[in-house]
Amino acid sequence: MSKHDPYGTPTKPDSNCRTCTDFKFWSKQQRQIFQKADNPTEEKTEKAPAVPQGCPLDKIALGQATWGLLHTMAAFYEDNPTDNQKRDIKTFLEVLSRVYPCEHCAKDFRKDLREHPAQVNSQYEFSQWLCKFHNRVNVKLGKQQFDCSKINERWRDGWLDGSCD
Ligand code: FAD
Repeated sequence: MSKHDPYGTPTKPDSNCRTCTDFKFWSKQQRQIFQKADNPTEEKTEKAPAVPQGCPLDKIALGQATWGLLHTMAAFYEDNPTDNQKRDIKTFLEVLSRVYPCEHCAKDFRKDLREHPAQVNSQYEFSQWLCKFHNRVNVKLGKQQFDCSKINERWRDGWLDGSCD
């Protein structure tokens, strides 16, 4: 639901930000707003639903898409990057951490970058650094840690069992 200013210019919704939350939480809020009856048993067993196709991203879908971009950038990063390439990646991460459209995620992202500056001297270094960064977010969210020795199987070469071929 977009709000409009008195002049009819569309403005960003301020209290209905999907990328500030996840779809499950957002949809729960919506149900409460419209006072629809909930089935509490179903709610407990419900998995976080995917965002319906063609709809705005929530925090989960945005995160998945962004990790996909970042890990793929790391997967195809140079083994021997030039100074310009190193600078570009660092600038990209710094800017992303300022404009990422989930405010509290971006705040922690900036803090993490200060505490663990990006390591971008090679494809191996960058992809390992990114894997560890992603794992720190996983820990914060109570998710399983990813085995960083498998980073290129996951994001560049496909699994050794051939399941991606
Ligand atoms: P995701 O974490 O999105 O991972 C996608 C896929 O990447 C996984 O399926 C797995 O195959 C692979 N993967 C998992 N871990 C690793 C790893 N360490 N290295 C390589 N590959 C891996 N959400 C919040 O609620 N709070 C936050 O503060 C927050 N901060 C975020 C900061 C950033 C920079 C980004 C990009 C996202 C952030 N998110 C945050 C979103 C969150 O990290 C997840 O993307 C979201 O919860 C969906 O999680 P998921 O379990 O589907 O898998």
